[in-house]
Amino acid sequence: KKYILVTGGVISGIGKGVIASSTGLLLRTMGLRVTAIKIDPYLNIDAGTMSPLDHGEVFVLDDGGEVDLDLGNYERFLDVTLSRENNITTGKIYRDVIERERKGDYLGKTVQVVPHITDAIQDWVERVAKIPVDDSGLEPDVCIVEMGGTVGDIESAPFIEAMRQFQFRVGHENFCLIHVSMVPIVGSVGEQKTKPTQASVRDLRGLGLTPDLIACRSSAPLEASVAQKISMFCHVPSTNVLAVHDCPSVYHVPLLLHEQQLLTTISKRLNLAPRETQASVS
Ligand code: ADP
Repeated sequence: KKYILVTGGVISGIGKGVIASSTGLLLRTMGLRVTAIKIDPYLNIDAGTMSPLDHGEVFVLDDGGEVDLDLGNYERFLDVTLSRENNITTGKIYRDVIERERKGDYLGKTVQVVPHITDAIQDWVERVAKIPVDDSGLEPDVCIVEMGGTVGDIESAPFIEAMRQFQFRVGHENFCLIHVSMVPIVGSVGEQKTKPTQASVRDLRGLGLTPDLIACRSSAPLEASVAQKISMFCHVPSTNVLAVHDCPSVYHVPLLLHEQQLLTTISKRLNLAPRETQASVS
């Protein structure tokens, strides 16, 4: 099983969900079965009790799960049916661990964020990644894990630590990380600035996670020299710097990533081969 973790830097709401879903869609064109897990580092058990003004619309799944609207993106882009288990929140993880503690499952141990919460997160991801999500009824080949929030937040720290450990649990060849960052345009000459990206990649590395690919969100197309600079200063090959500018429709994003050979890069990194020929993106 292959895992693709998608993290976000600089600010939230930069299009992490769309990049994660688009990556999944491209992998589907290789005939691979793809599932997705969204991590929301808030204490609510689910989005059902949250005001749409506060958090955007609530998406209701077939099993009645009231979840983050990103799950809707996944269902539409990947043509899958997800369950409430595909949305992990801090609330769900803590409830799980506390219920187990009350039953005495921890055999007198002191229950702690590390290792008990971080283990519970890893077990959840591993368990849910195996659940079939399409008509084939077969286990997915790839699981996209989208980390809500921004790297460095207090809230997401246990999840980041869990994923740091998870890369060793599943092995380097089965775990790849796409970091979505923002390249703002500032000043009267409209210069594209790389410093926020450099800082967020440094934060990520400090937490023990190394980006394999960096997706740069910008309002206008990313300049080649800026992409080169990000490659150089963030220590990733230039082929692994993806430029994703604002598009008229989010359905253009898969094409934008395809043009930048995302499938070739990910296939090489994760040793993926097409399963069968399906409709290709053109
Ligand atoms: P995040 O997961 O980082 O919070 P989302 O993927 O939910 O962000 O995207 C936030 C908003 O930005 C959504 O309304 C989405 O439609 C829009 N968006 C994302 N990527 C693009 C893009 N490349 N061009 C235009 N709009 C985009």
